[in-house]
Parts: sequence; C-alpha cells; structure tokens
Amino acid sequence: MLANRVCIIGVGLIGGSLARALRGARAVGEIVGCNRDPATLQRARELGVIDRAETDCARAVRSADVVVVATPVGSMEEVFAQIAPHLDAATIVTDVGSSKGSVIAAARNAFGAVPPTFVPGHPIAGTERSGAEASFAELFQNRKVILTPLPETRSSAVAKVRALWEAAGAQVIEMSAEHHDQVLAATSHLPHVLAYTLVHCLARMDDSREIFNYAAGGFRDFTRIASSDPRMWHDICLANRDELLGVIRKFGIELETLAKALRDGNGEYLLKVFEQAKEARDRFAEKGGRS
Ligand code: NAP
Repeated sequence: MLANRVCIIGVGLIGGSLARALRGARAVGEIVGCNRDPATLQRARELGVIDRAETDCARAVRSADVVVVATPVGSMEEVFAQIAPHLDAATIVTDVGSSKGSVIAAARNAFGAVPPTFVPGHPIAGTERSGAEASFAELFQNRKVILTPLPETRSSAVAKVRALWEAAGAQVIEMSAEHHDQVLAATSHLPHVLAYTLVHCLARMDDSREIFNYAAGGFRDFTRIASSDPRMWHDICLANRDELLGVIRKFGIELETLAKALRDGNGEYLLKVFEQAKEARDRFAEKGGRS
C-alpha cells in the first residue's frame, strides 16, 4: 500500500481517473474527494470513484498522506491557500496542472515558500471531455507524467508521487518547470489555440452553416480538441502566456511564408513543407503517437 489516505481536490476527468486507477491497482487505502459542487461529488461517490466526499478542503485534507490538486490552474493558488493551515507537516502535496511555472508561483504565494513536500506534476494524457463522469481508470496507462521538482523538493516526496503515478500505469519523467512549459506550449497549448481559432474563424463566416455541412474527417480530426472546456484552456493559455506567445509568433511566420509561396505559385516550397511534415508526423505515429 503506497498511502493510507489520498485526498483528491477536483474530482473531474484527471482527478477522477487517477482515483479510479489507484483504486483499481489497490495502491492506496481511502480516497477522499473534494469538489465545490456537492451534486458532482455525490455522483462521483455513486460511480465508485471516491470513498468519501467533502466539500470543505480543510476537512478533506485532514490526515491525508498525499493531497492531489486537480482543479483548473487558475484556481490553484486559492486551493493551496485554503489547505495550507490544515496540512500535516509530512503530507505530500502534488498537482496535475498543465502549466508548471505558474503553479509553482501559486504555491510560493499561498504557502509563503514552496514546501519541500510539494511535487509539481502534469500527466500528458487527457480527452476533450470534463468531469468525474468522463473519468476512466485506463487514462494514464502507458502515458507520460512529467514531474518538475525544485532543488528544495524532498526526494522521498518525489519518490512517493512517482510510485503513485506508476501504480496508475504511467511512465514518469522529470524535467525543469521551464523546460516543461516550453515543450508543452508547442505540443499542446499551441494546437488547442489553433483548433479553437480555426473553428471560431469558420463559424463566423457568413456561410458557416453551409461550410459545416460539408466538413468531413479532416475537419473532425483537426478540431476535436476545440470541444475541450473553454474555461480550463483560458486558464492554461494565460498561465503559460510567455511561452505560448513565442510559439504563436514562430507559427505566424511559417504561415505567412506559406501564404507567400501560394501567392507566388511556388509549388516546390509547398511540396517541401508538406513532405517534411508528413515524414515527421509518420515518425510520431509509428511510435504510437505517444512520443
Ligand atoms: P475537469 O474535469 O473540469 O475537473 C476539474 C475539477 O475541479 C472539477 O471537479 C471541479 O469541480 C473542480 N473545480 C473547478 N474549478 C474549481 C475552483 N475554482 N476551485 C476548486 N475546485 C474547482 O478538469 P480536468 O480536465 O480534470 O482538469 C483538471 C486539471 O488537470 C487542470 O489543472 C488541467 O490543466 C489539468 N490537465 C487536464 C488535462 C485534460 O486533457 N483535460 C490533461 C492534463 C492535465 P467543482 O466545480 O464541483 O469544484
């Protein structure tokens, strides 16, 4: 048994899936869930995602060995501040937020200094759906989880969080928060911005209904992630704003260069870009699309 009691604050897609996976692996004793909405929490209990439901964070974290904060990144400072006075000295706190620099800053603000028992983390797994009802135990199977410990983070705390994720089926890697935020801006945050912007742009065209009538597989594949929770992605984009702006700038230059090639009838350039992109995408897909 890795922990007697784990408290998950934010029993949604990610928090709920982690709870289900840990329960399935019989890795922990009691799982306490904490949400603001009692109805959602009750539903999570009925679904067997959690053992005990608490709407009050202070009560929820009492005697927990590990607290997992799985709320939107914009809410984390408030959650940390609510739980700070009620944590035991040995309680390990971790999070699942999609940006890491901002969450570390939130912990520093709320706790006064980043506690040695705080292990920032981010599972590279998800779907466009939200809430405990969308959660499933296999979500993290063979997926990567990035931990971004600080120099002051206790190694025993990192080892415990690593063991929990491994019990959930994930492969755990460690890197700096700065590197995480650069990489994820390019591979996750930019694609979400592009998908939202494309659908928004098409939906505002005069003949949008006609356009959507004829949209097929390519449109569906490219825009699936535009069905993700807008509030959550609002939080992530603002939290990783500087890195995201950097990759948007690079993408804008590429797009403008491609538009110029089109204007000039430069088919050679188009073919070169498409061939190189296909080669890179095929390599990614050969590795199971999970590199
Ligand atoms: P979700 O399904 O919407 O769940 C979020 C949970 O947080 C809900 O249970 C919600 O319940 C609670 N919550 C929302 N706002 C809150 C607030 N202000 N204070 C306290 N609790 C709040 O979202 P999710 O997809 O699991 O995402 C959770 C975290 O995982 C985010 O930080 C996200 O960046 C990260 N993440 C998401 C994905 C993905 O693909 N979805 C992947 C990796 C990481 P109540 O409203 O009842 O409190």
